Amino acid sequence: MSPIFALPLPPAEDWQAQARAARLTTAELLVRVGLTAADFPAGVVADPDFPLSVPPHYLSLIRRGDPADPLLLQVLARGEEALPQPGRLTDPLAEADYRAAPGVLRKYRSRALLIASGACAIHCRYCFRRHTDYGSVMLTRSGEAEALALIAGDPAIDEVILSGGDPLSLTDARLAALVSAIAAIPHVTTLRLHSRTFLAIPDRVTPALVDLLAGIRLNVVIVTHSNHEREISGDVSAALGRLRAAGVILLNQSVLLA
Ligand code: SF4
Repeated sequence: MSPIFALPLPPAEDWQAQARAARLTTAELLVRVGLTAADFPAGVVADPDFPLSVPPHYLSLIRRGDPADPLLLQVLARGEEALPQPGRLTDPLAEADYRAAPGVLRKYRSRALLIASGACAIHCRYCFRRHTDYGSVMLTRSGEAEALALIAGDPAIDEVILSGGDPLSLTDARLAALVSAIAAIPHVTTLRLHSRTFLAIPDRVTPALVDLLAGIRLNVVIVTHSNHEREISGDVSAALGRLRAAGVILLNQSVLLA
């Protein structure tokens, strides 16, 4: 088994090119990590509804030649996914019951969650929103006014959460417009972003993003979704360090994976 598999990355400043380079077929991924379908007891599958997406940086962290690599297992669709599973749910958190306005989930009185984007840089096989029809539930420009009006109309809401999909899939300009509109609501004090893009494409932490989050009046909390220590590469540490230096509070939410 060789150590880390190095790949040439698209230009560091072009995080969107890195996101585009993430789309791989199962066969391409296997070649790049030095494995074949026969290395997995139930084989591998292709799922056109939730295709592989593995950005070059994340791919570079996967151990070559190791079918049990914990990073690989998070992104490779294995045959077990296609097996019948009694009790499997397509909406395990019953989020359909909490839709309060276009693009808004409201589970708690003091918080509103915006499905800010339907896209993710990395596709995680365990994702609890992998069956979500984002076309019908995510925040759209036409629905944004209604969503913001709901938040503005309820002083109990002091925290707005940007989720998805992944809110860091939005451009800096789009994020700036959305964040500015949220910051303009006086009773909102905290902005929370949930994103796995920091781990998958650390170059997403652009100077414009840091300036945006450092410059708003809100407390900014970022929740990374790291599930393994090897996801915290030197580049990821540096990117998170730039956010920390800008006053952002960093938290992590992990999935317990077998
Ligand atoms: S980044 Fe989050 S929302 Fe996107 S596929 Fe992974 S777990 Fe799901």
